[in-house]
Amino acid sequence: MVDIRSVHKSFGPLHVLKGIDLTVRTGEVTVVLGPSGSGKSTLLRTVNHLEKVDRGVISVDGALVGYRRSGDRLRELPEREVLRQRTRIGFVFQNFHLFPHLTVLENITEAPVSALKRPRREAAEAARRLLARVGLADKADAYPRQLSGGQQQRVAIARALALEPRLLLFDEPTSALDPELVGEVLDVIRDLARQGTTMIVVTHEIGFAREVADTVVFMDDGRIVEQGPPADVLDRPRHERTRAFVSKVL
Ligand code: ATP
Ligand code: MG
Repeated sequence: MVDIRSVHKSFGPLHVLKGIDLTVRTGEVTVVLGPSGSGKSTLLRTVNHLEKVDRGVISVDGALVGYRRSGDRLRELPEREVLRQRTRIGFVFQNFHLFPHLTVLENITEAPVSALKRPRREAAEAARRLLARVGLADKADAYPRQLSGGQQQRVAIARALALEPRLLLFDEPTSALDPELVGEVLDVIRDLARQGTTMIVVTHEIGFAREVADTVVFMDDGRIVEQGPPADVLDRPRHERTRAFVSKVL
C-alpha cells in the first residue's frame, strides 16, 4: 500500500504540492489526471524520493520513503538506502530513458546485476521472460535506436519489472508516442493491472483510465480536487474544474 499524507513541496517560492493525501491499495491502479503544471510529475517523483517533500510523509508497504523515524523525528536515509528503496519502486518515464549504448537485454539486466547482485545468467534468463511478456522476445540483442518508440517503452517497462517492484510509477508513458503505437504500450500496462500490479499512472488516456483504474485522481494547482472510481470522476465529476478538464481531453 502507498500512503501519501499531507505532502507539500515547493521549488523556491513556487508552492507546487499543497497538501496531497492519497492512498493506493495493494494491487490497485490509480490514474492521475490534471492540467500541465498541476504537480503530477512532482507528486510521482516524491513517491520514490527523486524529490524530497518539504512537509508530510509517504510510505510504501509500511516503510517511510527517504526517511526513518528516530524518536519522534524523521531522519533522512543515507543515499545508499534511498537507492535501495528506489530499486523496489519502478519508474517509467515519458521518454523511455533507455541506455543507448546497451542492448535491450543489457538494459534490463543492468540494475538486477549491479544493484541486486543477481548472477548475470539468472538476470538474463529473467530478462528474456520479461521480454516475452511485453511481446519483444526477438529484440534482446537490438539497440534502443533500432526500436520504435512503442517498443522502447515496452523495454523500459520490462526493465522496471526486472527489479520486482512493489510499486510501478508511470509518468505519461504514451505521450511521446505516435498514436498508432499507444495501444501496444497500454496493452502491456493493462496486463500488469490484471495481474494485480500496484501502479500510479499519470496519463491523459481517458479510455484507458475508465477501463483500468480503480481510482481516478484529478489534480489542479497542487491539490487533489476530486478522486474516486472512474465512473464518478470521469462521467459525473462533481467539481467544475474536473468537468472542464475531462471534456477537453475526451
Ligand atoms: P505536465 O502535465 O506539463 O507534465 P505536471 O502536472 O507534471 O505538468 P510538474 O512537472 O509536476 O507538473 O510541475 C509543477 C510545477 O512545478 C511547474 O510549474 C513546474 O515548472 C515546477 N517545477 C517542476 N520541477 C521543478 C524544478 N525541479 N525546479 C523548479 N520548478 C519545478
Ligand atoms: Mg508531468
